[in-house]
Amino acid sequence: MSRVFSGIQPTGQPHIGNYFGAMRNYVSLGEQYGKNSIYCVVDLHALTNPAAFDPRLLAQRTFEMALANFAVGLDPSKVVFFVQSHVPEHQELSWIFTNLTPVGELERMTQYKDKAGQLESVPAGLLMYPVLMAADILLYKADTVPVGEDQTQHIELTREIARRFNHTFGETFPEPKAVYNKDALRIPGVDGHGKMSKSKGENSTLGLLEPLDAVWQKLRAAPTDPARVRRTDPGNPDVCLIFDYHKLFSDLPIIEMVNVECRRAGIGCVDCKKKLMEGVTVALSPIQERAAELAQHPDDIRDALAQGAKEARAIAAPVMAEVREKVGFLKL
Ligand code: SF4
Repeated sequence: MSRVFSGIQPTGQPHIGNYFGAMRNYVSLGEQYGKNSIYCVVDLHALTNPAAFDPRLLAQRTFEMALANFAVGLDPSKVVFFVQSHVPEHQELSWIFTNLTPVGELERMTQYKDKAGQLESVPAGLLMYPVLMAADILLYKADTVPVGEDQTQHIELTREIARRFNHTFGETFPEPKAVYNKDALRIPGVDGHGKMSKSKGENSTLGLLEPLDAVWQKLRAAPTDPARVRRTDPGNPDVCLIFDYHKLFSDLPIIEMVNVECRRAGIGCVDCKKKLMEGVTVALSPIQERAAELAQHPDDIRDALAQGAKEARAIAAPVMAEVREKVGFLKL
């Protein structure tokens, strides 16, 4: 059976873009693949971005990312869910892969170039990021990796590393394939400037666990079709991010009503946003209630993560034993 792996960055609060682009997908893949779906909060990766990394917040953000995933319905007893730094084999395999990967290939990675271009001093870890990602995936011999299209190059490199290892040391790893969730790239930021992204700051995101009145304040201030200067000006929902959100949160009759009434100025933008907020409330309230319940029992979350790390290590240990043997380390 196929095995799915996905890494989740513990950077800031998860937002609705993460939910529709990834988290919701984890739940359905978990139902399909059971314990062959492996999800990892990649806290080691968080260190590679000095601008976003804060040692005082790392543990809290890692914990919150686990809590948020459980709150949306991911059942840690049915999948393998753990924290990357709790499974040291990730780093061991990463080091072996580092020695199979030309520096030139890593320097050509688009994400590396983008991020490095913003830094005065570039940590070597940022360059090595895709090697660690390859180790994350191949440590479990995962063959299916749900990602956004911005990860295509990294998955290609993972396949290349698997080929190189197999060629050098003998057939060991599958070449994993990327499974794209196109929704991830289409959810606009609430500030109207491109994709919803944590890296653009909180003004861009609608937090999954953000208090609903704060969500409403952001929606209220969100830009709409600039052609609607007055209430009586007809608009075009196809150029309005509020309509994009309606497609995520509202029922079909509401979506159809907005699509018609906006074009003939039959509904004002404030009322349109209020209708949207009703859908947002229906969708987010149960998630937030569940998160509040889970937060009452932090030890249960920690226990689930400890159990997840145990299960992950049970898969990783024999793979690493095979790798060590093939690379030729002295056995005691
Ligand atoms: S009525 Fe709704 S869809 Fe139309 S421009 Fe205003 S907010 Fe956007």
